[in-house]
Amino acid sequence: MSKQESKNINLEHMRRDNKSKVLGWVRKGYYSRADLASLTGLTRPAITSIVDELISQGIIKEASNHKMVGIGVKGRTPTPLAVVPSCYVVGGVYLTRNSITVGLTDFAGVAFDKTVIPFDKDDDSLKVMEEACSILDKYVSKVGKGKLLGIGVATPGPVDRQRGVILNPPNLDKWWGLGIGEYLSKRYDTFVRVDDNSNALALAELASPDNDSVNSFSIVVDESGIGGAAVLNGELYLGAIGLASNIGHITVEVNGERCSCGNIGCAELYASAKNMVKWASQIDERFVDWKTILVLAERGEPKAIEVIEREAEYLSAIAVCAINMLGIDTVIFHGPISKSAKLMRAISDRVKKRRLTSASSIQVRGSTISEGHLRVATELVIEDFCRRGAVI
Ligand SMILES: [Zn+2]
Repeated sequence: MSKQESKNINLEHMRRDNKSKVLGWVRKGYYSRADLASLTGLTRPAITSIVDELISQGIIKEASNHKMVGIGVKGRTPTPLAVVPSCYVVGGVYLTRNSITVGLTDFAGVAFDKTVIPFDKDDDSLKVMEEACSILDKYVSKVGKGKLLGIGVATPGPVDRQRGVILNPPNLDKWWGLGIGEYLSKRYDTFVRVDDNSNALALAELASPDNDSVNSFSIVVDESGIGGAAVLNGELYLGAIGLASNIGHITVEVNGERCSCGNIGCAELYASAKNMVKWASQIDERFVDWKTILVLAERGEPKAIEVIEREAEYLSAIAVCAINMLGIDTVIFHGPISKSAKLMRAISDRVKKRRLTSASSIQVRGSTISEGHLRVATELVIEDFCRRGAVI
């Protein structure tokens, strides 16, 4: 390769990186070109050129009649920019241990067709997939394959991301080894990205306008077990073998029970809402589910508050571990455990007392993602497209 060719490739990479940065900010809010220059550190001419290109691709537009949420950088034409939701349609598949959600969202992640199919743990995975795809077929045929940007698949981990294969998630035996990525890419002749639920949730958090000033954080997900993921400097942190942030499998009871993972006293044995209810029902027979416990705690029932305090002890241990290991100051909780403001406050108070350094910047909170599972699955595709600088 000649020097000139090598230089051209580097320039192309740089341009894609810059496009990716700009698109990332436009997705988060209604910023002007001047705001984007300030937020990305790029020059105004570079921003103008990239914005023009993204507008000509039909991916973003000027949203003149929308209220600015920009950072107040003055410019000659402080016109807010926004993504064009209708520029692409994105397929999503979100698998849990007892249901599969399939559907389509627009490029802004807003669902317009969605079905949730429940299944039993003994059901054949290929039959479930066939049923799910017969529904997805109808949705895709309505919009036309040409509009489909890709399909995001979020599944309980571990997964082989490269090959799009579900490996061996606990309590999902019938799905072990399923090459769901290849299955879908052949059927729809489109790009498919497969990742675990926690990583997909973390990417959806990163894209959320609620996180416009946070690009390093950890999430703790309570969804049949406890999972986790981390984003560092705007990038998903996967670790050396791609299994980082399995926060549910850190020890919180050194003399505790053995977990199915092989470790002793894992957090998910004690802190998942399901296992906490199991423990709580032994101290009060009214504690039949997590929701009841939360309602009774809000009413000031001492035993329900005791359960919340116990849960806060475990979850704050997890949060402090993530904060000290990763050097982050934001932890976001998902699932049933995130539904109680009282619990979030109790965790936050403990974390601030136990943190190694200054506690002033610590943020512990429940997720605000409102679009649900489908939006989380399709983010896998939208994020990938934006990260590659809007190149298919
Ligand atoms: Zn474990």
